Amino acid sequence: MAVDAAVIQQHLIDPEICIRCNTCEATCPVGAITHDDRNYVVKADVCNGCMACISPCPTGSIDNWRTMPRVQAYPIEEQLTWDELPPELTPEQLAAAGVNGAAAAAPGQSGPEPAADPEPGSVPFNSAQYGASMPPWSAAHAYTNLYSPKTPTTATVAGNFNCTEAGFDSETHHVVLDFGAMPFPLLEGQSVGIVPPGQDALGRPHQPRQYSVASPRNGERPGYNNLSLTVKRVTEDHQGNPVRGICSNYVCDLKVGDTVQVVGPFGSSFLMPNHPRSHIVMVCTGTGSAPMRAMTEWRRRLRNSGKFEGGKLMLFFGARTQQELPYFGPLQNLPKDFIDIHLAFSRTPGQPKKYVQDLMRERAADLAALLQDGASHFYVCGLKSMEQGVVLALRDIATGAGQDWEGIAATLKREGRLHLETY
Ligand SMILES: Cc1cc2nc3c(=O)[nH]c(=O)nc-3n(C[C@H](O)[C@H](O)[C@H](O)COP(=O)(O)OP(=O)(O)OC[C@H]3O[C@@H](n4cnc5c(N)ncnc54)[C@H](O)[C@@H]3O)c2cc1C
Ligand code: SF4
Ligand code: SF4
Repeated sequence: MAVDAAVIQQHLIDPEICIRCNTCEATCPVGAITHDDRNYVVKADVCNGCMACISPCPTGSIDNWRTMPRVQAYPIEEQLTWDELPPELTPEQLAAAGVNGAAAAAPGQSGPEPAADPEPGSVPFNSAQYGASMPPWSAAHAYTNLYSPKTPTTATVAGNFNCTEAGFDSETHHVVLDFGAMPFPLLEGQSVGIVPPGQDALGRPHQPRQYSVASPRNGERPGYNNLSLTVKRVTEDHQGNPVRGICSNYVCDLKVGDTVQVVGPFGSSFLMPNHPRSHIVMVCTGTGSAPMRAMTEWRRRLRNSGKFEGGKLMLFFGARTQQELPYFGPLQNLPKDFIDIHLAFSRTPGQPKKYVQDLMRERAADLAALLQDGASHFYVCGLKSMEQGVVLALRDIATGAGQDWEGIAATLKREGRLHLETY
């Protein structure tokens, strides 16, 4: 019996399929996932098999388990060197380790004990826990993982222009990719992976980078098999040091007629509601506007068709300056009775810093009413650093209106009505 207790289902990530998007690391409630420049890995002594990371993973590479004697569990130092997953141990190898083949527990059953709950009041605010992993009930069916890094498809660049008024260092490009006759069904809120050509410092092909789709389901140009992306040219890292982002610069420099390797589609929960009178509250910064553009444009097309009665659309959109805000010009042309737009700029010379959460607090009364309305759907997308402030603003707006935030948040999550996608 002692031997059985020493057997675990070790949780592993497939390095061949993983697109290094960080979603699992951001989701794991106990910090069991970590990464380096090469791989994402799971700490066997921390993972409790709660499965919270499984459904948000866009590729399915997270869902790998190996029956292992606990003492032989692969350490993260070894996992970080892998280019592929090791095979299952054979019955003979398990027997040699003193393991009865029938003793393997279900994922998590013989993992470590979950960490004890901290003292009440000492829990740090974890915004990621509020994000839903279910789509709204009226979302359309999303196709995912039709093309993997081993079997990418080819798209042709049909357009590429700077969609900001900013210069090279802060520019964001609107890029249109055409799939010709190749199937690539997409919904608003999904993303694709772009495989940059060339190799990394270790001589391996570059990993794909993920980009949210900025066009609606029937194409950037209605009826065409194309999509658009909103790609920021990365010229400095998150600490502000100069760097040349591999994929973002590759995409921003593409010329019309160039071909690109594409994987995906990814994402099955950050999807828009399709029922009449459903409200959509969108909170984004920078390129986090891509899925919001897709949803807004789909609603605009439906409205123009005269066959769909939409609910409220509210957009809170932030950037450092107006010049860096993607699609600033086109946004001004949307009818006021169609979408309620609030822009926040954090680095306008001579102006106080404004963030999206500040604007949300200014509209607290409207947002409080929407939080209590079962037809409301909330979407947050942008850099990781914005997520906590936005969820805290929602919490404060709810409590300020005398609402039970934890109850509302649990309902929003259960019903797939609060989605967080930050990177
Ligand atoms: C779900 C998801 C959706 C995404 N959608 C979009 C999108 O719509 N548009 C978009 O432009 N990007 C998006 N990204 C980010 C994108 O996948 C890449 O991470 C980004 O383009 C940088 O890749 P790179 O190859 O240019 O930089 P790399 O060569 O991978 O990195 C270079 C350096 O820059 C840092 N860095 C990475 N990303 C950024 C960033 N965004 N800002 C500042 N520094 C960074 C890295 O930490 C590294 O130090 C998304 C990511 C995820 C996970
Ligand atoms: S199964 Fe749970 S504990 Fe393990 S890595 Fe995934 S989210 Fe973390
Ligand atoms: S693809 Fe899946 S396993 Fe890889 S980093 Fe993203 S969420 Fe994690």
